[in-house]
Amino acid sequence: MKIQIMGTAAYERVPAMFCTCAACEYARKHKGKAIRTQAQTLINDDLMVDFGQDNYIHYLNGDHDYTKLRTLLVTHAHSDHFMTNELLMTSGAYGHNEMESITVVGAKGVQDKYALLEGDRKVDFAPISFYETKNLGRYTVTALPACHGTEEPTLYIISDGEKTVLYNHDTSASPDEVYDFIKKGGYKFDLVIADCTYGLLGYSSHGHMSLEDNEAHKARLEKIGALKEGAIYVITHYSHNALMHKDGSPATPEQLEEIAAARGMISAYDGIAFEI
Ligand SMILES: [Zn+2]
Ligand SMILES: [Zn+2]
Ligand SMILES: [Zn+2]
Repeated sequence: MKIQIMGTAAYERVPAMFCTCAACEYARKHKGKAIRTQAQTLINDDLMVDFGQDNYIHYLNGDHDYTKLRTLLVTHAHSDHFMTNELLMTSGAYGHNEMESITVVGAKGVQDKYALLEGDRKVDFAPISFYETKNLGRYTVTALPACHGTEEPTLYIISDGEKTVLYNHDTSASPDEVYDFIKKGGYKFDLVIADCTYGLLGYSSHGHMSLEDNEAHKARLEKIGALKEGAIYVITHYSHNALMHKDGSPATPEQLEEIAAARGMISAYDGIAFEI
């Protein structure tokens, strides 16, 4: 399974457009890995997670044939994760293609937003409920409840029968019932892609996680036997607000990589790819 994390920022991105904080100043000056766009991930060439406002920049930066997409999992309805209007580009009016329909999968809030979309498109919608498992092409996908400020925000377990990914954002720390479900289901993850919006801030609230939350989450997944040996644990979806050290200096991508590595994690940057 090939996984590419195309965007690694929260809504504002890094640098944020109207911000003079040290993290944003650093990113503006140094560019490269310090530039972070909104979160979006591609699995192989046929399954995408989220479809936000940075769709097109990800398309430009990558080298992927989007007519091969068959499934779009949407975590929640916030605009940095789900913008419906560009789905209309699948229609013959905007693209010459022989593609099959893309199935958009999401829970209630995502379904409600999708229902407002008008116009021809090669897209259909499949609602999913928490703890439901769906067969979607060559994948099985299970929805878990996230803790985030939208209606029915969702985490996804994505498996191709051999490898399994836990797509773990946007959310704050998960309740016990999520760990219980993972344990009872005997899920074992090869890769976890987790919310680290509050990075170095050392606290969590409002539906996101910090580095410390991720240490606790990783330890708990390990404790219930949910991480395969050699599993990769990735932190992403950073806010510029959280990319500063205690002294106010910017945390560079290289420093974040070191901080993550010391905790057995990988700090994502835009375009980072994994083969599991
Ligand atoms: Zn987000
Ligand atoms: Zn900033
Ligand atoms: Zn969100």
